[in-house]
Amino acid sequence: METVPVNCNNCGAPLEVAAGANYATCGHCGARLAVKRTGSAASTEVLEKLDRTTEQIAGHLAELTRQKEVERVDREWEREQASYLITGKHGSRTLPTQRAGVVIALVMGGFGLIWTAFAASFAPFPFPLFGLLFVGFAVYAGLSQVKSAGKLAEAEARYHQRRREAMRKDPPPPPG
Ligand SMILES: [Zn+2]
Repeated sequence: METVPVNCNNCGAPLEVAAGANYATCGHCGARLAVKRTGSAASTEVLEKLDRTTEQIAGHLAELTRQKEVERVDREWEREQASYLITGKHGSRTLPTQRAGVVIALVMGGFGLIWTAFAASFAPFPFPLFGLLFVGFAVYAGLSQVKSAGKLAEAEARYHQRRREAMRKDPPPPPG
């Protein structure tokens, strides 16, 4: 078969096209080409360059949309996380942890018990009750924080799941 040497108009690679062919596909970059002849010289024109550009723009848009979605999920999580913040005595804000909850229940509850025993041995009747109230409050506050920390951990797992889904959405077309 007689062939004509041409260069791909998209990537410049040398190609051999059949003498009578009007169309060819570049074996190097895959571009669809129209073969143009001027006298004995042949050249190529890219047929699908516009389509490729359109594909690339669509790819960039999908990427932007995905980034926006991930940012939205992150902002939502920041707000959700803020709703769990505990304001401490000195205005410091911390997230609940199970460890802190247990420490509050044990240390403050233990302190309350010692105080109650002390009051019972020295003070008349109503005073030991205040100690027991304090113990009850400490245990309640500690367990509340343990429960809150559990909910926070679940919320965080949901956030990571949402974020993974947002990043997977509309995978970008292969490059090129
Ligand atoms: Zn090419």
